[in-house]
Amino acid sequence: MTLRESNIQKLDQGLYDVLIIGGGINGAVAAAALSGKGARVALIDQRDFAGFTSQQSSNLAWGGIKYLESLDYPLVRKLCLSRNHLIESYPSRVKEIRFLATIDKGFRWPALFLWIGGWIYWLFGNGFTKIPRLFSKRAINKSEPIINTENTGGGFEYSDAYLHDNDSRFVFQFVRSAMDRGCIAVNYVKSVGARREGDVWITQAQDVINGKAVEIRSKVLINAAGPFVDEHNQLTGEKTEHHHVFSKGIHLIVPRVTASQRILAFFADDGRLFFVIPMGARTCIGTTDTRVDSPFTEVTEDDRQFVLDNINKRLNFKQALTRADVIAERCGVRPLVVKAQGGKSRDWMQLSRKHEIDVNQSKAHISIFGGKLTDCVNVGNEVCDIIAAMNIALPHRHYKWYGEPHPSVREEYLHQARLMNLDSYTSSASIESLSSRLWRRYDQQALELLAIIREDPRQAEVLIKGTDYLRCEIQLAKRQEMIVKLDDFLRRRSKIALVVSRENIKQAPGLMEACEILFDEQAQQKFDEYFLDSPAT
Ligand SMILES: Cc1cc2nc3c(=O)[nH]c(=O)nc-3n(C[C@H](O)[C@H](O)[C@H](O)COP(=O)(O)OP(=O)(O)OC[C@H]3O[C@@H](n4cnc5c(N)ncnc54)[C@H](O)[C@@H]3O)c2cc1C
Repeated sequence: MTLRESNIQKLDQGLYDVLIIGGGINGAVAAAALSGKGARVALIDQRDFAGFTSQQSSNLAWGGIKYLESLDYPLVRKLCLSRNHLIESYPSRVKEIRFLATIDKGFRWPALFLWIGGWIYWLFGNGFTKIPRLFSKRAINKSEPIINTENTGGGFEYSDAYLHDNDSRFVFQFVRSAMDRGCIAVNYVKSVGARREGDVWITQAQDVINGKAVEIRSKVLINAAGPFVDEHNQLTGEKTEHHHVFSKGIHLIVPRVTASQRILAFFADDGRLFFVIPMGARTCIGTTDTRVDSPFTEVTEDDRQFVLDNINKRLNFKQALTRADVIAERCGVRPLVVKAQGGKSRDWMQLSRKHEIDVNQSKAHISIFGGKLTDCVNVGNEVCDIIAAMNIALPHRHYKWYGEPHPSVREEYLHQARLMNLDSYTSSASIESLSSRLWRRYDQQALELLAIIREDPRQAEVLIKGTDYLRCEIQLAKRQEMIVKLDDFLRRRSKIALVVSRENIKQAPGLMEACEILFDEQAQQKFDEYFLDSPAT
């Protein structure tokens, strides 16, 4: 029996303290925090974990320097501290990175002024990161010759942080840690509505893979459905103080444009900040910010052209980037919080990116609105406080539910890795050592992988050629990572689908063997489904 089958069977057994609807970042941290503190938790998502908004972000953990302009100082301060806390708690997953912002002549603020803003930003973050630096046009030419400085007035460099792997892997790691602490999490299970009977929520759910109905009973219901929070509240008749509006953002992934490991920041023609972000051997460019009415969006020809025009204007390419250079695209909506009345009057670009948690104490119902990956630890902690106030027992109230294992575990892992010369297996295409990559992706489970490789060195072979992923990682994914569709593995547990073109994935030697490991006799069907569902861009 697979992990998913076994968890589905448990969904309708007994009474959960909390059922969480939605396995994006908000649902995942709520699950990790509550199960870490001892609550009996179930989590369902109608798609894959992180299968909607939380797989479309810019992969940044940041204080939001741009919100200084809208005078949102408390938000910037809070996000800077959250960013610092993530860097400290996840030293191998969340890393400080430099942003070099290039400012056009005649821009609404001169570079010197923005550099002073960079210092304020740095102070808001308690001086935790490297200090900001002012750049002359000459200094920009010297350190980043790819930047077209024809119309540049100057620039400045400051720090924020990025998720080394991928937003969706980051989210999954919270789901995994929740499961390790007893949470029953299942992907591809949809809530079709819930009713309150006495002191209990009864949620009608459906396994979207085989259509089977499941009934889940819980004392508390947490609606963490991201852009669908309002929709789900309509199903349960919940009235809330806050609601969502949507802002669409896209990213294009292209071959790496500069060797430096820093983010290049520009103000696009519409005045918004946009970024050129390193993504291993690729570069991710974005994002846009367009108001939309529906959470279901796609990259339009206009979006694509906007990003390409802006980047071609600001970087010196031998040949301008075109649609043919785009390896993959990302597109999602930011669920932004507005009050039921009055919120919409605020300037669109300046709508706050903070989160709000609406609580209906009498019905034991919680709705999480907005939020960011950056602020995820606070969301988890706030949810625990609310649940405790509802008199749900949290026997391990002070348990620290987040963060990488103690440094001594990592030292032990690195020691063992050195003894077996693990890094000699690093693939020639990889830009980092195998020992650091395995630790970041699996932390203590990486020790299990070492044992497997010691027993059978073939397990350290790259299975899908043109990627970094080893045979033993795919075995582990099958057992522990609830892969239902090939996309779950290629796009979310790994980032293969973001950095390798669809055609190259299809041709990659080893892909079918990986499918056989993941799906047994359904391998061919899952392979066909993937390439049929998502044709080449
Ligand atoms: C372009 C873009 C760039 C961004 N960049 C950053 C960034 O760099 N840094 C940062 O911190 N934040 C960033 N964000 C914001 C951040 O990504 C989002 O705020 C966050 O991912 C939202 O998470 P969520 O859990 O609320 O929603 P989601 O990730 O959408 O999760 C909600 C889940 O609920 C599930 N669901 C819905 N209805 C049901 C139902 N009836 N039954 C079961 N499941 C259901 C969905 O399938 C979905 O998986 C960005 C967002 C966008 C769009």
